Amino acid sequence: MVRLNELRPNEAAVDPPNRFDAGLTFIGVIRTPWSSRRDCPRQGRLDGPLCRIEVHEPWVAALEGIERFERLEVLYWLHESRRDLVRQAPGGGGDPRGTFALRSPVRPNPIGLALVAMVGREGAVLNVRGLDCLDRTPLIDLKPDRCAFSPRAAGGAGGL
Ligand code: SAM
Repeated sequence: MVRLNELRPNEAAVDPPNRFDAGLTFIGVIRTPWSSRRDCPRQGRLDGPLCRIEVHEPWVAALEGIERFERLEVLYWLHESRRDLVRQAPGGGGDPRGTFALRSPVRPNPIGLALVAMVGREGAVLNVRGLDCLDRTPLIDLKPDRCAFSPRAAGGAGGL
């Protein structure tokens, strides 16, 4: 079952520190077909529905050259998540586990990461597939898929 904000059996919450150590600037907003967490996929698929990433000024110039990448990593702020759980019961079933042993949206810093397929760019808007977040989820960052930057594996034993 998808969590809204309730605690499930055997979950544990803490009192989070009453301070922030860094600031974020939302650089845009993600438009998806999902207005309820109950409808969102648990993870996006590269053949999932078309979604729009709308980048706001003054960051649109930072998109220059991005259209040449087939895959992007998208980081977003899961703004409707509670942030205080240290042990969670996975929504899909299974034993409760520590938050950092899960990809749950409920975490101290609710950052989501998705690998998406670039469909195309129209100015400040990227059309992509592969997201799993609510409509109007704030956008934190965009990066080309790291494979495009990874050094080739060394030759020799074990390096194919
Ligand atoms: N793909 C990302 C990752 O692995 O970091 C996020 C995975 S998380 C399991 C995806 C789920 O987060 C969705 O199924 C939905 O229940 C929830 N979710 C999506 N957008 C959200 C938002 N803006 N605020 C809170 N929860 C959200």
